[in-house]
Amino acid sequence: MRVCVFCGSSAGRSPRYTEAAVALGELLAREKIGLVYGGATVGLMGVVADTVARHGGEVIGVIPRSLEAKEIAHRGLSELRVVGSMHERKATMAELSDAFVAMPGGIGTLEELFEIWTWSVLGLHQKPCALFDVDGFYSQLTSFLDFVVQEGFLRPVHRALLRMDSDPERLLAALREPPPDGAATGKWIDPHET
Ligand code: AMP
Repeated sequence: MRVCVFCGSSAGRSPRYTEAAVALGELLAREKIGLVYGGATVGLMGVVADTVARHGGEVIGVIPRSLEAKEIAHRGLSELRVVGSMHERKATMAELSDAFVAMPGGIGTLEELFEIWTWSVLGLHQKPCALFDVDGFYSQLTSFLDFVVQEGFLRPVHRALLRMDSDPERLLAALREPPPDGAATGKWIDPHET
């Protein structure tokens, strides 16, 4: 099994984010789950990768040529794939992984999370997606997503495809759960349906 971790190319203000990245990396290595990520040495991305690699786990980095210098491509990985574009990076990470986790991060992390979750809503893949909610980082996003459901733009069953936990072990367990019943329902919501 391989898990793709989306996370900040910055480390964030609180040391809790780095501690959580270390905890997740240690757990992945212990469980012999490979890490797929954006291939950088910077921020939380570097912390997760260093931790898995230090504990002898498999780490595959996928970085676009344009970011190789900027994000300082990691040279200590099991494999570093240098690809042509951001789109190719996301497609490659999606192909190589069996599940996806978003840790705290910036707009790059959010963009990657929303794309992979949307693909699952559209039925393009059946791989689980989850938020690693370190210190309530995702609580405001969670409230907003519930509002999106309430306003009739997102089905509850598709909302439920995005799992969430603040504890890495429970998070991994949640990723192993089957998708909710009805997840294959069409995306578009008829304004008259109840
Ligand atoms: P951030 O969360 O903004 O620190 O970004 C985390 C990672 O996502 C970094 O490696 C960014 O280069 C990457 N990223 C940002 N935007 C995109 C995008 N459109 N497609 C793929 N990766 C991206």
